[in-house]
Amino acid sequence: MMEEFHSETDSDYTSYWRDWFVSSRGNEYFCEIDEDYLTDRFNLTGLNTEVSYYQYALDLVTDVFDLDADDDLREQIEKAARHLYGLVHARYIVTTRGLAKMLDKYKKCDFGKCPRVLCEGHPLLPMGQHDLPNMSTVKLYCPKCEDIYNPKSSRHASIDGAYFGTSFHSILFQVYPALNPEKSLRRYEPRIYGFKVHAAAALARWQDSCREDLQERLGEFGMSHKFVEESDSEEENFEYGEENEPARTEKVAGDGASGRMDLGN
Ligand SMILES: [Zn+2]
Repeated sequence: MMEEFHSETDSDYTSYWRDWFVSSRGNEYFCEIDEDYLTDRFNLTGLNTEVSYYQYALDLVTDVFDLDADDDLREQIEKAARHLYGLVHARYIVTTRGLAKMLDKYKKCDFGKCPRVLCEGHPLLPMGQHDLPNMSTVKLYCPKCEDIYNPKSSRHASIDGAYFGTSFHSILFQVYPALNPEKSLRRYEPRIYGFKVHAAAALARWQDSCREDLQERLGEFGMSHKFVEESDSEEENFEYGEENEPARTEKVAGDGASGRMDLGN
């Protein structure tokens, strides 16, 4: 790691630390934190006890590092600086400026695409399962299927989840509600030689009836929720979401026997 720096002059090394950091391989999930944000002590509250060599690390991150240190110490300060940057990053990305920068990266698919087939390559967002460091590594959230995934690359898989935090991805959609993808009724239906797998079909029917009940109750309060398939009738290979009662009872009568059996009734 340190060899990379020796080839450059000291001023190159100290002038562009954040620039170097966000453009390094493996750091693609991070956005560049504004200098203004980093130099406002209020934003760094509590981090002095979390980060070793705090002042040197901060100097390095804010490009005013000036210490004649041996390689060993330099490496430790470098490590501390990366940790500090990550912890500040989690705070920065929920600010207006930070959200806008991460939104930009999301739109460019910098965080990858959802591996779920039915999500059709929807862009992902980085997130943590904990807000405290050293608890879990970064995960990727898909707003379409609302599930989380492990990063594909090992370079990303070792990043601390606390550098993104548990709330950022949800705040992004609160601030930019129009970005929320339309919810879909489509789901994978297991089949054996073309026949629906009984247990899975029974579970799917139960989930459908719960959803219909909920939509009905929401309707009573004047709230309606549309799924992407309900807005136009392009998709015809789709049997869910029928609003009329006769069609539904017909469907239940058609394969209800097997479903009841599998549910253990
Ligand atoms: Zn997905």
